[in-house]
Amino acid sequence: MLFYDLPLIDHIMNKTKSSTTFINNETVYDFLFIGLGAGNSLILLSLLKRGLISNKKIAVVEPTKKNTNDKTYCFWASPNDSIVNDLKPIISHYYTAIEVNGSPSQNIEKQPYYFIKSIDLYEHIINKLVNEDIPILSFYADTIISVDEIYHLNTSGGTLKSKFIFDSRTPPYSQLSSNEIYLNQSFYGLHIKCEKPVFLKDSFEMMNFNVDQSDFTQFFYTLPFSSKESLIELTRFGSEKIDLDYAKKILDKKIKAEYGSYEIVAEESGCIPMTSYQHPKNDFQGVLNTGAKANLIKPSTGYGFKNMYNFASIVSDNIYNENFKPFNQISLHKKSRFRFYDILLLTILLKWPKKGKKIFTNLFKSQNIYTIFLFLDEKTTVGQELKIFASLPIFTFIKSLFIHLKKTNGLRYLFSFVSVLIYFIIHYYSNVTSLNFGYFLIIIGLLLVGIPHGSVDHLLKIENKSSLFQFILKYLLLIIFYFLIWHYFPLFSIIFFILYSSFHFGESELEEMGINLNSISIYIRSFLIGLSILLFIIFTHLNESIEVISKIGGLENIKLYTNELIMFKIPLSLISLVYLSCEFLLFKKGGFLMLILILIVGCKMPLILAFSLYFICQHSLNAWGHLKLKLHINSIPLYKKALPYLIGALSLFLALFIFDFIGLFDLYRLQADGFIFLACISLPHVILMHLFYKKKVLEN
Ligand SMILES: Cc1cc2nc3c(=O)[nH]c(=O)nc-3n(C[C@H](O)[C@H](O)[C@H](O)COP(=O)(O)OP(=O)(O)OC[C@H]3O[C@@H](n4cnc5c(N)ncnc54)[C@H](O)[C@@H]3O)c2cc1C
Repeated sequence: MLFYDLPLIDHIMNKTKSSTTFINNETVYDFLFIGLGAGNSLILLSLLKRGLISNKKIAVVEPTKKNTNDKTYCFWASPNDSIVNDLKPIISHYYTAIEVNGSPSQNIEKQPYYFIKSIDLYEHIINKLVNEDIPILSFYADTIISVDEIYHLNTSGGTLKSKFIFDSRTPPYSQLSSNEIYLNQSFYGLHIKCEKPVFLKDSFEMMNFNVDQSDFTQFFYTLPFSSKESLIELTRFGSEKIDLDYAKKILDKKIKAEYGSYEIVAEESGCIPMTSYQHPKNDFQGVLNTGAKANLIKPSTGYGFKNMYNFASIVSDNIYNENFKPFNQISLHKKSRFRFYDILLLTILLKWPKKGKKIFTNLFKSQNIYTIFLFLDEKTTVGQELKIFASLPIFTFIKSLFIHLKKTNGLRYLFSFVSVLIYFIIHYYSNVTSLNFGYFLIIIGLLLVGIPHGSVDHLLKIENKSSLFQFILKYLLLIIFYFLIWHYFPLFSIIFFILYSSFHFGESELEEMGINLNSISIYIRSFLIGLSILLFIIFTHLNESIEVISKIGGLENIKLYTNELIMFKIPLSLISLVYLSCEFLLFKKGGFLMLILILIVGCKMPLILAFSLYFICQHSLNAWGHLKLKLHINSIPLYKKALPYLIGALSLFLALFIFDFIGLFDLYRLQADGFIFLACISLPHVILMHLFYKKKVLEN
């Protein structure tokens, strides 16, 4: 923080109406702003500029006095840009030259680097609010509820009602899933006054890496205010925040060595989250997330001010056009590939923090500064980006890509599709060899993940009262019981199997997409998703499915209905596929697209391969990931825990195989018995996984 003495703001704040006199339960505001930081201040300024405030009832809820200079907002822009014109009164300084990491100074007159003290922004907006008679209520905002499309905001001073709310409170990042990257951009800076004129007031220095990296990415910033005064900052990108005493010592050493004796005018410290996490849109249609909560801070740099300014323009455009529906969906358009680049860089900074120095040094050395500004503004073309990446340490980025693909399932989909491709190439030359190749992959897949994902059910047992022995006993009894039911009531058993498998597959798909199963309608949709998956596989392989089912004792007659069933082949396959595609469009989750692709690719394979492709590459790998995430365990220890049960299941299956194959030498019969076997052992698994997923929903 920059600690200046700021009596002026106190004076202005005292001029705003007293909070308590303003709580009137009958007032319904048009707009309520939670927080008066950068995000909301810029929106208010934009609304004021366009005259969209008059005739509106507006209030701001901000518990702090906003009377400390807690930040500096810097950004580059062309002198003619509206951001520069609009904020001219509060731009305290700008630089027309830049030095990067000791390199010669470069002219940036076309896009100077502007500097705004946060206190000036606060003072500016508070003055305007006072003039417009807009109250700043000194309350803490708490929960929001919606009553007949009016939002009730509970605050420390009472309830406020509004038609629309702008919410800039960022929730804590403490509960991020282990899949998300979180780093701190922490810094400590000194505003100093030197005895001698040592600074060029129009030139600033960015990213000077002439400092021990100490297992982080660390660098200095120097932002002069005059020939004798400057802000000098030590910044760290890292999982640990910078220690202030450590930073103080380093800054003192640097300043004394380079500029001689000095006095401290003010200190600044702060931390900007650098995270892959994306805040979801507000659940309420009339509540718009703003500022950092609208994902406006670029994860890899911490710059967000210009994004917030542009977002404010979009918000005021919507309000001008009375385009309020849905208000919570208003967003700044961003190209998704830049998010991908940010994630690659964050992964590097997390895994190999020392590489940061090399990456940034290479970037600034090889590229024109305006291209870099354009790149950081996410406005470069793909060609320019390729040139930029070519100048960076490519292997580090490839390693980072590998980690990213692994995390986002990209690697397994890549592996699945390469395997499928090889299968089709072999199939072109030899059907038998391709089948053997397919069976080989199935065996590997089943051993590595297909069976193990169901072999750790003992870790999911919900009631801790029963011992492991009792648990296994109950588990086995359920399997045996269901096996007997199959024997006596095969038709009922197969229908029951299709129903609970549909439920299980759908539940696991939605879990993978991060959709909470918290209502009946979502459960119904998840069931229909699972059912569509099964029906699609069965009806696109109808003859084979009939052949397998006819081998189940008691279901031999299914063959008599072959003609009737064939009538449903195309309609049911199509309905299933269309339903899955509609769900994909509604949920807009990439995982759905991969699921659909896997199912379509399977159409051209025999039944067992098509089912295994879905079962191993989609269902089991998803479930394995859920187990790892929620049991907080890595793959190898989890696999070790699965191993005894995997061996048990395999022994049973081997006995079945020997019995069927040696005795009858009938592949369909083996598939039918394998099917019953899988159905029986999956019943307790489905129940336990459901309780496991549900437990998480309740905990959330
Ligand atoms: C130290 C620092 C320096 C930065 N420098 C730059 C920079 O140079 N350039 C750049 O582009 N970006 C910069 N950023 C990033 C970004 O621009 C800022 O973080 C910016 O302030 C984010 O705006 P915001 O509105 O989301 O949050 P804030 O500005 O933090 O505002 C949030 C407001 O909400 C209020 N609030 C919180 N809880 C409640 C509650 N329960 N009820 C009511 N009000 C509440 C807070 O008091 C605060 O006033 C910097 C960030 C930091 C932390």
